[in-house]
Amino acid sequence: MKYFFFSLFISFLSFSQNKTVIKCGKLADVKTGKVLENQTIVILNNTIEKIVSGDYKLHETDVYYDLSKFTVMPGLIDMHVHVEHQTNAKQYLEEFTLNEADVAFRAVGYVKTTLNSGFTSVRDLGGTGVNISLRNAIDSGLIEGPRIFTAGKSIASTGGHADPTNGYRKDLMGNPGPDAGVANGLDECIKAVRQRYKDGADCIKITASGGVLSVARSGENSQFTIEEIKKIVETAKDYGFKVAAHCHGEEAMKRAVLGGVHSIEHGTYMSEEVMQLMKDRGTYLVPTIAAGKAVGAFAKKPNYYPDVVVPKALAIGPKIQGTFAKAYKFGVKIAFGTDAGVYEHGENWKEFVYMNEVGMPFMEILKTATMNAADLLGQADKLGSLEAGKLADIIAVDGNPEKDINAMGKVVFVMKGGKVFKILSK
Ligand SMILES: [Zn+2]
Repeated sequence: MKYFFFSLFISFLSFSQNKTVIKCGKLADVKTGKVLENQTIVILNNTIEKIVSGDYKLHETDVYYDLSKFTVMPGLIDMHVHVEHQTNAKQYLEEFTLNEADVAFRAVGYVKTTLNSGFTSVRDLGGTGVNISLRNAIDSGLIEGPRIFTAGKSIASTGGHADPTNGYRKDLMGNPGPDAGVANGLDECIKAVRQRYKDGADCIKITASGGVLSVARSGENSQFTIEEIKKIVETAKDYGFKVAAHCHGEEAMKRAVLGGVHSIEHGTYMSEEVMQLMKDRGTYLVPTIAAGKAVGAFAKKPNYYPDVVVPKALAIGPKIQGTFAKAYKFGVKIAFGTDAGVYEHGENWKEFVYMNEVGMPFMEILKTATMNAADLLGQADKLGSLEAGKLADIIAVDGNPEKDINAMGKVVFVMKGGKVFKILSK
């Protein structure tokens, strides 16, 4: 009798705690770098409760997903996307034709596509501010998308890569200041960072050198002094922000690393001297090979980009993959990032192919897109690996990406925070 009541009590407890149970075919364990067999993940609410090796006895109330034909791994993290934007032949005109609401409605599709392709978190490195509203809409469950960590508006100097008025009529665009993310001198740099805090950003993005797609002559010149960069990093620290620096040029990169930024984006003309500085300081490289390939290809289409952009795209685009290969071999820390938006959202997985092409094995790439990315986000306690106590961000792909990296394009299951957003049966 005593035993009977006890078991009733237990079943009442388990009834009140509906668990989700995932049977994994293979489980890519980023912590050990091994692919494990015969594992079962048990999820309670939005968190991984435990991972069981061998047989697992299901309870009646458990919600069960049989992914035994698939490879299961942590949700992917892309550390460089632009959720507001997607490349198209009219993009330079759209500065004048789209209202914020248009940008927002289009972005609803981009973020859903991103989540469905297995990216459960993204770091958004620059838009107009709609990115902050999108993050809030996703967090509150209004729309479906990845967790967004956003820089809001990028910070540039006047005429710099992220000055949103470059190349346009002065009377239409005016001369923006720190509120709009354009800062010159130390005081404006402080104000530009504080404005991002006020706007609700999660991190800071600066454009330390020229870039490809801005309507400006140089894709690599230095656009902040080292004092300005140091001031931005110092101010960002007050607000708990990490700083990402867009850089193609060597001198700009050196200033950014010495100035204390946490990641170099693109890194095209990186020298061994800079690689050594990054290694010494633990600065991440976020390669964005996918963007390099895309701009190189679009530049060959007539009139796709303005004339001033074409030579920059042809020079810089094809170099990024080679830079990544050198930095990886040199031992620079890598966090996965693609610049999605510069090419079509949902194709982010191709970065796996490009990184693999130049010698990085699948499990190491996966680590850059999970553990390393979570570390750079400052979210390593919640994201980036499948283990008890972390958020249940879990995906599965059809196939074995260790044998064929293209399997990363075949996402069959997406769970974010314990909730299933995609499931394809086979
Ligand atoms: Zn970018």
